Amino acid sequence: MDILLASNNDHKQEEFSRLLAPHRILMPKDLGIAFDVEEDRSSFTENALLKATTLKALAPEYRILGDDSGLCVDALDGGPGLQTARYGFDVHNHLMDSKERNAYLLKHMEGVEDRSARFVCALALVVDDHRVYTVCEEAKGSIARHERGSEGFGYDPIFIVDGEGLTMAELGMEAKDELGHRGKASRILMEIIGRI
Ligand code: IMP
Repeated sequence: MDILLASNNDHKQEEFSRLLAPHRILMPKDLGIAFDVEEDRSSFTENALLKATTLKALAPEYRILGDDSGLCVDALDGGPGLQTARYGFDVHNHLMDSKERNAYLLKHMEGVEDRSARFVCALALVVDDHRVYTVCEEAKGSIARHERGSEGFGYDPIFIVDGEGLTMAELGMEAKDELGHRGKASRILMEIIGRI
């Protein structure tokens, strides 16, 4: 089955291509579609649904997958949370790159002892007007004192997975697929896909 991913994030395409194999994961740019959504809803699931339904209107013949994910840090009252994609602007009001954002988050965590956090992943699969499926899962962990590891993307180098003592970026892709938020949600989605 071809699944059109409501995202412009190549890292997510890479992960879903493994996690939802043998289904083929396409991106809007593969179909020449310009896709952009303001993620302004009040939960990860609603944002995932918003992404998926917005793209469904542009490509009705496809099954669409929306993913909204983020990092929720207890000491930051659950932040950056829903704002994860927009967390960290520099003095010129430009969104920082990943490395800068990790440094920015670590700065806010200086001297903080409770470093517990969660990675959340909400998925929304829109098949047609009536068949709409959502899943939301999380991976528990804590915020490292400094970046560690070189695999993955985004906040992976500063997120230590509970029970492993290693960051997502140190663990590598196979372990991230097994233990991570997107892997957990994708396994449930695969069961759903198998039934539709
Ligand atoms: P969105 O889901 O596209 O809105 O992205 C949310 C933000 O969370 C982005 O800044 C991503 O870099 C970050 N993020 C989402 N998933 C992951 C992940 O698996 N590892 C590290 N960072 C992630």
